[in-house]
Amino acid sequence: MIDREELRRKKQSEWEKEIAKLHKNVPRLGEIADRVAYLSLNVLKETVRNKNNGDIKDIDSEVKALLAERKAILVSLGLDESVYEPKWDCPICKDLGYVRPGVVCECVLKEMQADRESISGIYGTLREKRFTNFSLKYYSNPENMEQKVLVCRQMVQKIIAGEACDNLLFTGDVGRGKTHLSLAVANEVMDNGKNVIYRRMNDLIEEIRGAKYDGKDEEFLKRIYDCDLLVIDDFGAESSSDFAKSQIRILVEERNINNKPWIISTNLDLNMINELYSARIADRLLENARVFAFEAPRSIREILREERLQQ
Ligand SMILES: [Zn+2]
Repeated sequence: MIDREELRRKKQSEWEKEIAKLHKNVPRLGEIADRVAYLSLNVLKETVRNKNNGDIKDIDSEVKALLAERKAILVSLGLDESVYEPKWDCPICKDLGYVRPGVVCECVLKEMQADRESISGIYGTLREKRFTNFSLKYYSNPENMEQKVLVCRQMVQKIIAGEACDNLLFTGDVGRGKTHLSLAVANEVMDNGKNVIYRRMNDLIEEIRGAKYDGKDEEFLKRIYDCDLLVIDDFGAESSSDFAKSQIRILVEERNINNKPWIISTNLDLNMINELYSARIADRLLENARVFAFEAPRSIREILREERLQQ
């Protein structure tokens, strides 16, 4: 997150330098500024003493005349009154981060969302994988697939509401839409302000290794355990080293215990997971999970590619 106090200090000092330069070039503007400051202080004093309304009116009209003169000078220089305000990144909250005490400014919310997106691992075209562009027509049994999509949509609602839900294990050959549907869930959950981490299995294992042994981004470990939704794509693709096995087992066990949902996609069937990994991992994967087989006669990815070429 941006250090807003630091940012404001910087903007303030840049602005003071600009004003000093301006007043040096156009001394009359400096005189006006000093006089207005002096008069404003007098108004304050008179108001506190609560007398002499006439004096306050005189001061008021002098201030008005000075400000009109200032405006005319600024216009002649091609400037306007905004030079007398620091150049805030966010004019709404003047970089304070809140609109009033207890009410966070939308610039902070935007920054938090941008942070969430950048750590999620979902970027570029991955952000475009949505329920709305997930087509059922390529599947062997579209009605059955529709039911699975419905469960995915329910999962989104439950995560947003902070309710417990089943995990999802997507199985099927390459190009059958597993990644698309898992990202449709992830994108929607993230758009609703929840923390999501999406990684391909090999990248996940490498990042865990980096965080554990190379001192890289140690926060990453915390995030994969704590995030509102963890999506592991291409489970078991290559990495079945002892390190990968133990890390995945611990991760899934921990998330299961803490009711933290995950979606895992794999080209392996359950027997292969048993063989390549272990019965214990297979058990953990099935513990609180629904297994969705993605069955389509051909790779959807290939069909889509052909369709694009024909256009
Ligand atoms: Zn703001």
